[in-house]
Amino acid sequence: MRKGWVTLVVMVGSVATLSAQISKEAIHLTPNGKGWGVETEVPREGGTFGNKPATTNGIGYHGGPVMHANPVNVYFIWYGNWTNGPKPSDSQTTVNLMDALFGPTRGIGGSSYFKINTTYSDMAGYATGNIALLTSSTNHYSRGKQLADSDIQNIVSSAISSRALPRDANGLYYVLTSSDVAETSGFCTKYCGWHTSSTIGGTNIKFAFVGNPDRCPSACEMQIVSPNGDSGADGMASIMVHEASEAVTDPDLNAWYDSLGNESADKCAWKFGPVTGTLGHGAYNQTFGTYNWLIQMQWENSRGGGCDKALGGKFYLQ
Ligand SMILES: [Zn+2]
Repeated sequence: MRKGWVTLVVMVGSVATLSAQISKEAIHLTPNGKGWGVETEVPREGGTFGNKPATTNGIGYHGGPVMHANPVNVYFIWYGNWTNGPKPSDSQTTVNLMDALFGPTRGIGGSSYFKINTTYSDMAGYATGNIALLTSSTNHYSRGKQLADSDIQNIVSSAISSRALPRDANGLYYVLTSSDVAETSGFCTKYCGWHTSSTIGGTNIKFAFVGNPDRCPSACEMQIVSPNGDSGADGMASIMVHEASEAVTDPDLNAWYDSLGNESADKCAWKFGPVTGTLGHGAYNQTFGTYNWLIQMQWENSRGGGCDKALGGKFYLQ
């Protein structure tokens, strides 16, 4: 089965100057041996190289900050129609599942999985292993159904300026679009989600886009029959966690990535390790609270580096 594109591509070059967006032509595709297209960035230049020594764990440090907040506060912006949209997953069921996944207790925050991120650091110390949903808001198609990257930032900015959500430098804001919404820079064709940061209202704001992958299951979902019986939500879960880990380890796109421009979770994209059950039939590889999830692994920046499902756990190639 063709499995689409890697989940994460970030194109914005630097923190404060969103206008310095790298052209799409700068993207190149490399085969990953599975017939999937893996989109990579050209190596980003610059960054202020700190005096942190280079590691031998397959990923390099480029001087920028990681996120330390305990927890990183998550804000959801449910864009479009998440009540009764065109797909069954455009529904409150999906909202509830994501609320559980990022909930303050029994979600990914503080899990052994998310603690993999504590193997990353900057000069101020280790990255956080904790993340938790604080507040959500909704947006009923304020920018229509064809969104550009700039619309995503505008949606975040509007949520903050209208005080629907707080302005939080320790936050991660997700713009989550229902299945009838296109992100025209390449959702479903080049990526399934992305993250970046920008200065909004004088504050460095980290934000991510993740669309309902039921818009393009063959590209952005590992399985249609999924652990929680909601293919859109289960597909989003893996993508959203991927973006969360990368926002923590590389929030401004100038901290941790490898020589190909792959950030931490990119190195384990679509790799799940051993699963319970059978892929395609509701398989899962993580349990948080009462929910089972199929979540792609994260790159551990220790012990030589590798993809694992839990801090200090076994490394897996697939
Ligand atoms: Zn990524």
